[in-house]
Amino acid sequence: PTIVANVVNIVSERAPITMSSGHDEVTLVDNLIANFKKGGNVLEKKEKVEKKVSEAPDFPYYDNRNGAKGIITWAEIANGKIARPSIELLTPARKLADQLGNDTKIMTLLIGKNVKDQAQTLFEHGSDEVIVVEDDRLEEYLVLPFSSIFAQVIKERNPEIALFAATTSGRELAPRIGVKTGSGVTADCTGLEIGEYVNRKEKVINKPILFSRRPTYGESKLATILGFVYPQISTARAGTFEVPARMEGRTGVLSTYKPILTDKEFTVEILQTVRGGGGLQNLFDADIIVSGGRGTTGDGLELVKKLADALVQKGIKAEWACSRVVVDEGYSEYARQVGQTGKTVRPKVYVAIGISGAIQHIAGMKESEKIIAIDHNPKASIFHFADFGIVGEYQDILPELIDRVNGGFT
Ligand code: FAD
Repeated sequence: PTIVANVVNIVSERAPITMSSGHDEVTLVDNLIANFKKGGNVLEKKEKVEKKVSEAPDFPYYDNRNGAKGIITWAEIANGKIARPSIELLTPARKLADQLGNDTKIMTLLIGKNVKDQAQTLFEHGSDEVIVVEDDRLEEYLVLPFSSIFAQVIKERNPEIALFAATTSGRELAPRIGVKTGSGVTADCTGLEIGEYVNRKEKVINKPILFSRRPTYGESKLATILGFVYPQISTARAGTFEVPARMEGRTGVLSTYKPILTDKEFTVEILQTVRGGGGLQNLFDADIIVSGGRGTTGDGLELVKKLADALVQKGIKAEWACSRVVVDEGYSEYARQVGQTGKTVRPKVYVAIGISGAIQHIAGMKESEKIIAIDHNPKASIFHFADFGIVGEYQDILPELIDRVNGGFT
């Protein structure tokens, strides 16, 4: 919460934005001016930008939370159990609750068919209350009833913050709830904390509000987005936050909620669910991810898969993944793409093979505990991010690695 000085309003209904480049906070105006300087009549454009900013309405000091209190999260069910990103979410939720103080509680909404038993997992990872909605028709996620239920619970409980994991369903659900509650959504956040907004003109400090941070401009900048409408809703990028330590035996309040649901909410019927093999869960749970890039498309990718398989045969939780090019060229399903527009993973070991190290790929794997890069170009950027680098042809290196693993190397 030190970013109070540089907040500049932009003409947006949602929020002012500060941009940070590395460790230096820069205002959006600096940023715009820097961009304008690239060409044209700099002075005229600078004036235009400054005028626009000075004319922008300042957010007045007001507390429109109407008693809003508490943090609500959504526990998504995937393959019959709570999806890991929903448990990760309890890490920032606990941090925010501690920062807000005043006995702020974490509520988690659990919707599905016979899901009550899963509540204990949520208590042990940090939820203070689990609100259960059970209905046979809600076995599979459906955006219409789920968003309706969520909005009803929000209306009744009046939380000040609502958090969702930025999974496919979370990305769909959160904006619907944003609309239903007249709020907004900050999507795909990698940082969440409580800050204090200083009103630029009146120099008064607003009550603590949610500072949602998310990468922007191709991951080269970090935007801090402030929500002034309650509940403040954000989605958190899966894989960014660690799963909070499990506190065996921890309990909390188990509540049930009976929503009002009409036929209108069930106009979509799920006839069949076909789950892909390389699902979301596998990549998030893997200890070692062997990832292939353009350098391995074709035969090379078979070696990438073989290395992952060899590790699995040795009892290691391993999975294979890839860069976007591999997906774009049709060699892999999208579910395996790592990066800005794919998954964010944080395995113990990430092996990047034939991946040059574009910033959009790095965004999805930089939190890995150890990164091993294999590339025949010694100048490839990936080596700047790697803990261990092997310069050479994957055709020479991978067969040897596979043999070593098969031979008992762990
Ligand atoms: P390349 O950059 O072509 O690198 C191939 C590497 O293989 C090279 O370093 C080369 O030296 C090496 N190589 C070739 N042959 C061999 C060999 N025989 N042995 C060893 N090494 C070899 N990318 C993602 O990955 N994930 C994303 O989510 C993503 N999102 C994006 C979003 C946006 C908005 C944009 C604009 C781009 C995004 N990209 C994403 C694309 C990204 O910019 C890069 O184009 C992409 O990551 C490059 O993939 P690559 O490293 O596999 O291929």
